Amino acid sequence: MSGLIDAFLTPVQYLKGVGPQRAAALEQIGIRTALELLQYYPRRYLDRSNTATAADLVGASEPLTVVATVRATSEVKGRGPRRFEVVCEDEAGARFRCVWFQRVKWVASAFSAGDRVAFHGRAKVFRGEPSMSHPEFDKLDDDAPQLDTGRIIALYPGGADLSKVGLSSRTFRRIIHQLIKEHGLSFPEVLPDWIREEYNLIDGRVALRAMHFPRTHEELDQARLRLIFEELFFVQLMLGKLKVARARNDAPPFDAPGHLTSRFLASLPFKLTSGQERVLGEIVSDLRSGKQMNRLLQGDVGSGKTVVGVACMLHAVDSGFQAAFLAPTEILAEQHYQNLRRYFDFLEVNTRLLVGGQKRAARREVLTDVASGNARIVVGTHALIQEGVAFANLGVAVIDEQHRFGVMQRAEMASKGNNPHILLMTATPIPRSLALTLYGDLDVSVMRERPAHQQPVQTVLAFEKQRAKVYAAIRDELAVGRQIYIVYPLVAESEKLDLKDAESGFAQIQEAFPGVNVDLVHGRMKSDEKDAAMQRFVTGETGILVATTVIEVGVDVPNATVMVIEHAERFGLSQLHQLRGRIGRGEQAGTCYLMAAHKRTHDSEERLKAMVDSHDGFKISEIDMRIRGAGDFFGTKQSGIADFKLADLARDIEILELARAAAKKVTTRDARFGDEGHQTLGAYYRAFYRDQLMPIAGIG
Ligand code: ADP
Ligand code: MG
Repeated sequence: MSGLIDAFLTPVQYLKGVGPQRAAALEQIGIRTALELLQYYPRRYLDRSNTATAADLVGASEPLTVVATVRATSEVKGRGPRRFEVVCEDEAGARFRCVWFQRVKWVASAFSAGDRVAFHGRAKVFRGEPSMSHPEFDKLDDDAPQLDTGRIIALYPGGADLSKVGLSSRTFRRIIHQLIKEHGLSFPEVLPDWIREEYNLIDGRVALRAMHFPRTHEELDQARLRLIFEELFFVQLMLGKLKVARARNDAPPFDAPGHLTSRFLASLPFKLTSGQERVLGEIVSDLRSGKQMNRLLQGDVGSGKTVVGVACMLHAVDSGFQAAFLAPTEILAEQHYQNLRRYFDFLEVNTRLLVGGQKRAARREVLTDVASGNARIVVGTHALIQEGVAFANLGVAVIDEQHRFGVMQRAEMASKGNNPHILLMTATPIPRSLALTLYGDLDVSVMRERPAHQQPVQTVLAFEKQRAKVYAAIRDELAVGRQIYIVYPLVAESEKLDLKDAESGFAQIQEAFPGVNVDLVHGRMKSDEKDAAMQRFVTGETGILVATTVIEVGVDVPNATVMVIEHAERFGLSQLHQLRGRIGRGEQAGTCYLMAAHKRTHDSEERLKAMVDSHDGFKISEIDMRIRGAGDFFGTKQSGIADFKLADLARDIEILELARAAAKKVTTRDARFGDEGHQTLGAYYRAFYRDQLMPIAGIG
């Protein structure tokens, strides 16, 4: 069967113009086969429409590409650092220089007078001439025809190391040209005809050729569209198959929600939002279906996910099963536990807490209770998923702030029962494109509504010289009985330093607010000290809580109305939004002060602006993804799944939706690729995607 895609698998070393030395170099950048070579896409294209002149370089804010002829080269050893200079002339005859201070020897060997080269970078004016230091460059001389003819030339990524073994853009163009000339016709089309027709996509072979040797910009756009679609399509196909496989997992069918659930809901001092009602309905039908639920609940901070999670657990207890509530931090587990006890005191549901910091005797007692089935609901941290924790009959696991848990941990939680139903909850709204990709195998429920009483938080950007004003505002709030958070960043690499920040901030705050109870919590405190401090804040004994980001997730103290975030420019956008979500949870409006340094990067500027302008977690996460790039967002890089060559989830959402629809048609019509027209598709899927399923199979 794999014969269908053999041409893609041809080892590059057998290609004309490659040979063993270049093959070894190519292997170092992950290219072993013809397909990998074809998928080594150009980093840029060069043609008349995007080349600049030497004069354009002066004062340009973006890096530019200038095509030039090398006039003279020299190694300068005199005063100052050793450097290599190239004097160039652009096509109008205007001069500029390029300078290298590193790898002088290598660059020196790369240029000779008369070379035609495309330089790419920024320039400064030096001795009256534009001067580029360490520009990227691509030699054009022999094979690149006159740029005036409008042909578009591909430039490939590749640094000094590649060039050393002769792998310049020029060489890539030659090798790939040869490859397409010789084998182009034997490459398979992996997408079936009906998909290409339905979604208006060009032939795959044409697309691959056009990526490397585009004739027009339109052709290039078509090629890109086709290949982006293909990348997204196969990932969606993989997730679709995973979903189908999971849907076959039998799970205990629950009864209709019973008296515990209804009494709990009736006891709430508020009416459920329409979002809560809808999601609960979806969950109930999952739980009664006899198939394992794998549902992700996305809801912005403060949207009231906890109530939904609790109702889901009570439904399990009503049906005779146990339920687990997994939280990422001890503070949060403790808070949930206290809340449940409060909710449940009239329900008599045996609820236990299991966290790492517990005394041994207490822990043993909890474990016995859980194993015997005596405990109906267990709240806990990672301690819950350790070995030695056995449930009598776990029916539901609710995983709060699920993005804090890895795939393995989710799988471990699920393994504590026999296909228990899984509800994942996340307060970090994920842009739809990312959700479809990361969680394309789950059912997703979204709650956009906020409980009606909640006031949006006003967000104010403030600088050091406004500190006195901020403190005055804090005093006013304290005077009417409200509470305040002051947050310091905690970055893993410099944990000690940041801690010092929080500690000295703590001392400073105590001084600035005499007579006010000020407390400090941070991640290095013992868990009982931490809990005690949190508890004092919950009960209102503490007026100001100075904290590191340990309070980021989930903490719910409605009486806290002001948050000051110190060094706000150092926080990530989603993290800032999470933190801000700690206030404005009650009936009073809240204010969040972002204390920022004047010196900020462009990115931090954008983050702060987004915070001031927007309160919508979904919008904020889209902006965050745009700033950080999809791969970095939620560490999806490690998961490999959002690791695309061409697709960009922040940009290609529309293509993603189409690719998803196409993939769905395939999984419903012909999941095993048995149809005549699906043979190549199947072979390609099995060769390149099926195995990726294993590590992400995760839950169930
Ligand atoms: P999150 O979704 O961030 O986890 P929580 O579940 O902690 O939010 O709920 C935030 C606050 O809103 C809590 O104090 C909770 O009691 C309250 N709440 C939840 N649902 C409603 C509702 N339908 N009406 C009013 N308040 C609600
Ligand atoms: Mg929560």
